[in-house]
Amino acid sequence: MKYIFITGGVVSSLGKGLTSGALGALLETRNLKVRIQKFDPYLNVDPGTMSPFQHGEVYVLDDGAETDLDLGHYERFTHGKLSRFNNLTSGQIYEHVLQKERRGDYLGKTVQVIPHVTNEIKARMYAAGEGVDVLITEIGGTVGDIEGLPFLEALRQFSLEVGKNNVIFIHVTLLPYLRAAGELKTKPSQQSVAKLREIGIQPDILVCRTEQPMTDDMRQKLSMFCNVEQKAVIEEMDVRHSIYELPLMLAQEGMDKLVVEKLGIDASESDMSAWNSIVRRLISPKGGECKIAVVGKYIDLQDAYKSIYESLAHAGVGNDCKVRVLRVDSESIEKDGAASHLEDVDGILIPGGFGDRGIEGKILAAKYARENRIPYFGICLGMQIAVIEYARDVLGLDGANSTEFNDNTLYPVITIMDEQKDIVDKGATMRLGSYECKLIDGTKAIAAYGEPVIHERHRHRYEFNNAYRKRLEEAGLRIAGVNPKRDLVEIVEVVDHPWMVGVQFHPEFQSKPSKPHPLFCAFVGKALERAKSKK
Ligand code: GLN
Repeated sequence: MKYIFITGGVVSSLGKGLTSGALGALLETRNLKVRIQKFDPYLNVDPGTMSPFQHGEVYVLDDGAETDLDLGHYERFTHGKLSRFNNLTSGQIYEHVLQKERRGDYLGKTVQVIPHVTNEIKARMYAAGEGVDVLITEIGGTVGDIEGLPFLEALRQFSLEVGKNNVIFIHVTLLPYLRAAGELKTKPSQQSVAKLREIGIQPDILVCRTEQPMTDDMRQKLSMFCNVEQKAVIEEMDVRHSIYELPLMLAQEGMDKLVVEKLGIDASESDMSAWNSIVRRLISPKGGECKIAVVGKYIDLQDAYKSIYESLAHAGVGNDCKVRVLRVDSESIEKDGAASHLEDVDGILIPGGFGDRGIEGKILAAKYARENRIPYFGICLGMQIAVIEYARDVLGLDGANSTEFNDNTLYPVITIMDEQKDIVDKGATMRLGSYECKLIDGTKAIAAYGEPVIHERHRHRYEFNNAYRKRLEEAGLRIAGVNPKRDLVEIVEVVDHPWMVGVQFHPEFQSKPSKPHPLFCAFVGKALERAKSKK
């Protein structure tokens, strides 16, 4: 069992998550079994209660854990599925330690960061690695953060316990480019490594994020001041087209070779053919292009709909086409009308969301898609929006709504689930994680999946109201998938439409570049047809 720890220096947003994912991908190309996990030093128990402004998307796992969006990168870059044990926060550690203290488990001792908190972190490390060859652990935040100290201390102790030849530390750092001086600077990286060494951690590999190529001189300097072999100073330039170029770039720098050497792993040579073909399809697709509008309320935030944007790119790989994404603010549709924003798009996607801001704009977008026969993909809230729109405009149920947005609506076509009614706590209390869904014959959904039973991840409190099922079906809104145990409607489709599909779950959490999601592929395929027919 081998361990890789990835820390970050100088600034946040260095792309440590992507580097971790890409390294995992590289090791898998050498036939190693890899798992990647993240330790987040903040005090929230999980990011499930954080706003997209604070934290970007909340990524949901099969087991229902609400996790950091970096776990999305890990699952997209590698093959294994992750569990709630793969995203540890200080909040979870302290919650656990304090419960033990209240139970009296510490037998009268003073409870302290060292050893009680650090022991808990180490215990989680030992448990997380079972069944894999290499466990990669990314530490959130930046070296020097006060809240990160217990984690680094625990990892230092851990590396001593499991033997130093079984562990490597990789430090991802930034070489800022000073335009006035016309050069890259190494000093911040030197200081960041000095900070790590103060705690007793000597990095084995330095990954240098940079906009400009490094010179040999700089490699030498970094090697000497940071006490890292020269060949272990790795350059990581900004990717040019896509994040999926990263495994290829790191392979070119010899990263995987270096890692297996340093860990003493006897691994096969790497086979990059799958990644080469993914990147070829992303950079120079052969099958034309289409334009998809994502209508949401966090369109200025890079990370709020991360997995949605990634899944669209994967569907581009699947269809060998370019997918251009137009981010449309639903509130601006309320102001200007749908046509002015959506006139020239080939597909409209409405992602998940909470709260009533921008809802009416999304309903207008769904109406526009239905009336103009534009492919429409509604995800979670986007499915609920499609149902509300159909009820209002086709069934004539004026003011139909979800009780999330109007508790007094005469036609609650979307309502709170029974088991949700009495819940007051916000954390980890939604309908979360993977549920079975049975697909109905003759639907677009079953045509896309090509199998009758699927499993998809959920994160919601409201659901399709079965009291309206019959009327909506008679009016042409077909139920295409149900949860068999509880008869919950999971997929709806407009019968008289080229492709208007809404799903109560989040397919974007199961799409990978190596295995694009069938619904995203079908949606983009239809958008591509539309784009071609316009020519
Ligand atoms: N707000 C809706 C609900 O709770 C949709 C949630 C979502 O889109 N993830 O049911």
